[in-house]
Amino acid sequence: MPITPLMPVYPRCGVRPVRGEGCYLIGEDGTRYLDFASGIAVNLLGHGHPHLTAKLQEQVATLMHVSNLYGSPQGEQLAQRLIDVTFADTVFFTNSGAEAVECAIKTARRYHFVNGNPERTTLITFQNAFHGRTLGTISATDQDKMRGGFEPLLPGFAYAPFDDLAAAEALVDETTAGFLVEPIQGEGGIRPASRAFLHGLRRICDERGLMLVLDEVQCGVARTGAMYAHELYDVRPDIVATAKGIGGGFPLGACLATEEAAKGMVAGTHGSTYGGNPLAMAAGNAVLDVILEPGFLEQVQASGERLRQALEQMIPNHDTLFDSVRGTGLMLGLKMKTDSRRFVAHLRDHHHVLTVAAGENVVRVLPPLIIEQSHIDEFVATVSEAARLYVPPADE
Ligand SMILES: *Cc1c(COP(=O)(O)O)cnc(C)c1O
Repeated sequence: MPITPLMPVYPRCGVRPVRGEGCYLIGEDGTRYLDFASGIAVNLLGHGHPHLTAKLQEQVATLMHVSNLYGSPQGEQLAQRLIDVTFADTVFFTNSGAEAVECAIKTARRYHFVNGNPERTTLITFQNAFHGRTLGTISATDQDKMRGGFEPLLPGFAYAPFDDLAAAEALVDETTAGFLVEPIQGEGGIRPASRAFLHGLRRICDERGLMLVLDEVQCGVARTGAMYAHELYDVRPDIVATAKGIGGGFPLGACLATEEAAKGMVAGTHGSTYGGNPLAMAAGNAVLDVILEPGFLEQVQASGERLRQALEQMIPNHDTLFDSVRGTGLMLGLKMKTDSRRFVAHLRDHHHVLTVAAGENVVRVLPPLIIEQSHIDEFVATVSEAARLYVPPADE
């Protein structure tokens, strides 16, 4: 077999979407799918949202790209709006989540460098974390499946068990720059950190002058019903990487930082040719227009609560398959007692409902944030019917 035109790094399934309508995707063969995957927590306004579409169309015809050699009224506007609603004082725009994490890592290292502590380079990260696929971000995870064959990786990372404060504290030494952590692990299986853990990391950072770097690429941007997940914990970060939902489907990420944390990021230290171009800024601004409308976050919380309750009510009817529901807002995980990957495929192929498998046999439930009660009803009824008809593999 010759190699496929698309480098075969993904085990792609048979769904071949060609069109989207709100919470549905339509395949090449006309099949309609209820999309509770949202392009992995990206399409937070669903598909073809009128406001996002109109703003992008307008910007495409006006000005698409100019480079960062010039002033950016569009970027200043989006950055200021993000600053107004977050902990941040300054923003660097990227084209992806991994680049946002890269910028966060560089910002943390530069902070110590300009403070006269160039030996403080190591970020303590956590088992089962996912931070992206660049050499830097695969170095920041301990997962062999992402690292194998790509050595030598970057030095400057240490790994502790997730949610284990004592283990994290034990790794701190004079070379530590800070912690890099997902408040809610996404790929790792929708695992929320405990309050005590995140507050403990903050305390250690305060005591030792370290950077608390949060990877909110998946859990950020209204997904949990808060603008950023750390707000639910009342934890103050120094640096946050954000992406996925922030462009509503347009490739966009950002590194948010306090003035103090960003003090090393002066002219010439970092850059991106595309980062923050006018088209990307139009996407980001259009997404913010919608999610900052009064009542939007409350609506996400309410939808999340109704979806969680409906799933929890379903579990006793299928208690050989399902264990529990975890997560918050519309970042939910259905923990299974059997292989979740296989069930996700069953749901997709036989019941035309899209979800995403994650670690620890979790089915990730990541609908567009604009879902209505009818979508929740349809989802839960279909998952329940799919569970009734599902035959788990005999060897389990
Ligand atoms: C998806 C993800 C990334 C990587 O984002 P890309 O846009 O794929 O580079 C990083 N961190 C977390 C937590 C993610 O979920």
